[in-house]
Amino acid sequence: MIEKIKEVVKKLFKEDKIDIFIGYGEGTLPLRTTPCFITGPDNIEKLVWNSYCFNNLAVYLPRFFLPQLQKKDLKFPRIGILAKGCDGRSIVGLIKEHQIPRENLYIIGINCSGMIDIEKVQNAVYKMQEVEIVSAKEKSGKVLVENEDNKKVELKKEELLAEVCKNCQYTAPLIYDVLIGEEKRKTKEKERAAFIKEFEKKPLEERWKYFQEQVSKCIRCYACRQACPNCYCKECFADQTRPKWIGATENISDIMFFQIGRILHQAGRCVDCGACVRACPMGIDLRIFTYKLIEDVKEFFGYEAGISLEEAPPLATFKPDDKQEFITEP
Ligand code: SF4
Ligand code: SF4
Ligand code: SF4
Repeated sequence: MIEKIKEVVKKLFKEDKIDIFIGYGEGTLPLRTTPCFITGPDNIEKLVWNSYCFNNLAVYLPRFFLPQLQKKDLKFPRIGILAKGCDGRSIVGLIKEHQIPRENLYIIGINCSGMIDIEKVQNAVYKMQEVEIVSAKEKSGKVLVENEDNKKVELKKEELLAEVCKNCQYTAPLIYDVLIGEEKRKTKEKERAAFIKEFEKKPLEERWKYFQEQVSKCIRCYACRQACPNCYCKECFADQTRPKWIGATENISDIMFFQIGRILHQAGRCVDCGACVRACPMGIDLRIFTYKLIEDVKEFFGYEAGISLEEAPPLATFKPDDKQEFITEP
């Protein structure tokens, strides 16, 4: 797949169709990749594609268009981007929210076979010995991990898949200019939502307690916000001082205000890419809340984020007969 990706990118630069390409490069540690910004055909060899390309690259797109949006006379750059299913759905959301122009994007869609959860690898390896992983190689569905004592452990990729990837329905983007790999859509809808159904069965008090327990671990580093393509506001409500919505304290009510604000802003927008979960240094179970919203939006509005450019998102739609019981008078 990587050779095909490089071939397409090379052609795009040769035909002068893009100014920048966003893909993945080798990470400085095993089991990691880093976002890679290519500005010409000479650097194409830096690109990689493997089971650690988990960053949602769509997060970088709005900032390329921001200065141009402010100064109307400047020309928009032409951006090429590698998009897995989840990145592709985020791109659709950003186009619909007028953050990026479709005509300036060249989307290389890739059919993704799922990303590996580093923590699962570490748990599997550290169970055997408390030493550093120095290399990880992947072949035919197996991951060969080597530690600093030259001990090797072979693990099955399917047992190491990230939770969001286990039953991902859209492994390839729905909108692309070229697609690499065959599109395979999974439809294990029930299995996919099972963990939310379990959560919903719990009494309200228990769910609230779980929310409080989880968010009380939050150190407000805002890594979840920075990793999410939907969080592109020039000034986040969490940083605003006029008006000041949240105090800069460790008080649980301040933390909860941030969390509830961030999570609710994801209604009809979250594509379940898992970038926020992976970014969180405190291991907070953020997905249970964002996924609950995904299910609710599907149930109440029949809407799923990032699958169509035409359908209006629920947060941007208004009907005069919309239910309004939740609105309170000031
Ligand atoms: S959520 Fe789907 S598209 Fe995204 S990394 Fe996982 S398997 Fe790939
Ligand atoms: S809220 Fe998290 S899972 Fe949802 S789109 Fe943003 S980063 Fe991805
Ligand atoms: S990444 Fe985790 S710790 Fe940081 S602000 Fe988000 S939830 Fe809190």
